Amino acid sequence: MQFRDLKKQYQVLKEDMDKAMIDVAASSQYIGGPWVKELEQQLADYVGVKYCVSCANGTDALQLALMAWGIGEGDAVFVPDFTFFSSGEIASSVGATPVFVDVSEKTYNVCAKSLEKEIEKVLAEGKLTPKVVVAVDLFGLPANFEKVKAVAEKYNMLVLEDGAQGFGGRINGKVACSFGDIATTSFFPAKPLGCYGDGGAIFTDCEEVKNLLESYKVHGKGAMKYDNVRIGMNSRLDTIQAAILQVKLKAFADYELDDVNKSAAMYDKALAPLAEAGKLVLPHIPEGFVSSWAQYTIQLADRATRDGLQSELKDKGIPSMVYYPKPMHRQEAFADCKQTDEDFPTTIKLCDTVLSLPMHPYLTQEEVDEVVRAIAENI
Ligand SMILES: *Cc1c(COP(=O)(O)O)cnc(C)c1O
Repeated sequence: MQFRDLKKQYQVLKEDMDKAMIDVAASSQYIGGPWVKELEQQLADYVGVKYCVSCANGTDALQLALMAWGIGEGDAVFVPDFTFFSSGEIASSVGATPVFVDVSEKTYNVCAKSLEKEIEKVLAEGKLTPKVVVAVDLFGLPANFEKVKAVAEKYNMLVLEDGAQGFGGRINGKVACSFGDIATTSFFPAKPLGCYGDGGAIFTDCEEVKNLLESYKVHGKGAMKYDNVRIGMNSRLDTIQAAILQVKLKAFADYELDDVNKSAAMYDKALAPLAEAGKLVLPHIPEGFVSSWAQYTIQLADRATRDGLQSELKDKGIPSMVYYPKPMHRQEAFADCKQTDEDFPTTIKLCDTVLSLPMHPYLTQEEVDEVVRAIAENI
């Protein structure tokens, strides 16, 4: 069994995919060109924002956003303690200071109360200026942007939506990657919309930000390519990845997002008796929200049960993953971080109890049943 079945996806898309890749190879246009521009337009249309700027990966996308806003030394960037490393790494990369925030136990996403508490602490200390909150759409579920934006507005801060896992999610019909002042996504192969290597994109309604992003991603170019007006990066999306993504975006919009939600519903139904018996906690999707199910993540009773189950699943040939085993504030790279365990009770609990199960649009009822049977026998 595959954790995310990219082979099956390729078999389904093979004809269009092979043509897309060969067309790019035959064109000899390997950087930029119409495929990249078309994809950016398609992505902006799908998400419902004015501008999409493609780039080399989801981490660069986040960093470019902070660069466009001029975030740097002396600025505090608030980041969930429970997320992938990139979400916090990018604050340090631009010279700013990441400040971690605990998450909600139900949604795994940033907790607005904890956010406000950490902002107040930074203000009381008086050393850093609160500038940005990175709200991550973890596991495919959009963050609670209504609450996050209210806090950001109160403290005059910007919201950066890290939609690396959230592409395709919805809140009351509005599409993920449209909620932040800037939003980003990743096309790493295993993400909801993945390519055949690395890729990323940035979304915004602001023309000035879009123009800055276009410059920063190509060595800080000015009006002309060899006129460099600021220090930037080399962060382009390859043409071949753009062509691959055009095929994948169509499949994603036509049926993959629906099908991955059907996979989630199969798990919900099959796991319901175990959840009702209090043996595990199912993913929670709040009213009005849609997840794009980057992960289907359950919580077990404690670490021993979770680790035991994971090893039993492995013996049966069922892959599972622990996203994430370590809170951000405990990462060695953030050794300067003065925040302590007592500020992050939920993240610490989640790191000990979560387990992500095989999840993708091509999952079958038989596969779901096999996973659920193995879980029932081992907890
Ligand atoms: C994958 C991921 C990223 C980084 O994306 P890359 O394309 O791998 O650089 C950032 N944030 C989150 C939440 C992610 O899951």
